[in-house]
Amino acid sequence: GATIGIVGGGQLGRMLAMAAARFGYRITVLDPSAACPAAQVATEMIVGPYDDEACLRRLAGLSDVLTYEFENVAVAPLRKAMGETPLAPPAEALEVSQDRVVEKAFLNGIGVETADWRAIDAADELGHALLDLGGDCILKTRRFGYDGKGQARLNADTTFTDAFEAIGRAPAILEKRVPFAYEISIIAARGQDGAIAAYDPAENVHSLGILKSSTIPGRVTDELAERAKAIAAQILSHLNYVGVIGVEFFVGKDDTLLVNEIAPRVHNSGHWTEAACLVSQFEQHVRAIAGLPLASPERHFDCVMENLIGEDVDRFDRLVAEPRSVLHLYGKAEVRRGRKMGHVTHVTPLSRGA
Ligand code: ATP
Ligand code: MG
Ligand code: MG
Repeated sequence: GATIGIVGGGQLGRMLAMAAARFGYRITVLDPSAACPAAQVATEMIVGPYDDEACLRRLAGLSDVLTYEFENVAVAPLRKAMGETPLAPPAEALEVSQDRVVEKAFLNGIGVETADWRAIDAADELGHALLDLGGDCILKTRRFGYDGKGQARLNADTTFTDAFEAIGRAPAILEKRVPFAYEISIIAARGQDGAIAAYDPAENVHSLGILKSSTIPGRVTDELAERAKAIAAQILSHLNYVGVIGVEFFVGKDDTLLVNEIAPRVHNSGHWTEAACLVSQFEQHVRAIAGLPLASPERHFDCVMENLIGEDVDRFDRLVAEPRSVLHLYGKAEVRRGRKMGHVTHVTPLSRGA
């Protein structure tokens, strides 16, 4: 059978590998840790840094198609190392999503609305930009931020040097804080044939910058769902994308939609699909990158997906005893504060035609 090469062996790589195994594919994973979550499932491990050209070249040499589980893969060594091996999603999707300024410029350029923003290259540009955006802003690193890390809220008491120190590195982006009613995400896929399939939106709740829960359908009306899916489809088409994407949105009081960010990969807020849909986001991604037809994203339950973070995983005995909950652990030996250990999806009958 064919071999799928995955850059990154965290829980997303692990769940991709599990889905790929169901189609009989071989899975090679590149990760710095031989004991990463995906190692238990991979056919073969390459242990080394994600941005090491030699490791990437070995991975490409062993693989019929290359994919990745996170958006911070260095594009230059990857492009050099991949040779003739196809990469999905394409390198352009990495370039757009790994820099918040490039990302927002791309989105606005295709007519997708975001929070107002300004690129900030040095602390002395902050004063003017803050005034320009009308105050109440969030300063974020352009690159390498995740789980709310590398962000600082700016208020009257913050000095600009403090803000820069808090996020740890320049260059940065200043974003107007959005007074959202709630947050949603769309998980969608585009196949090699250009077909697009979008799952129903999830209403997401974050705690301390980390996703806490996803509720489907949550407060999302059918009309809002259709608009969000159309925006995701527009992004996929413009990137000539192949694979699964996660698109995070802010929903305003009057159901206005602003895109927060995009993730060119399977997404934590799509983990519920394994419990409530015909085909999970992981299988959908494998189908897309392997050139298979996409499956229907239809949903057969309403559900709530809860992340098990740190000691939440101690509730295992109780959770596994719930008859209508699907439990998924990532095989991480060490429990650490703030570490994603697993997730559980509680399902209930469909409340309305989905
Ligand atoms: P992820 O782990 O999803 O990649 P991240 O570190 O890239 O997260 P963001 O998604 O940019 O960070 O922000 C994390 C959360 O902070 C958002 O989901 C939202 O709750 C809040 N937030 C971020 N930007 C804004 C904004 N401009 N206005 C209001 N809230 C915001
Ligand atoms: Mg992010
Ligand atoms: Mg986010």
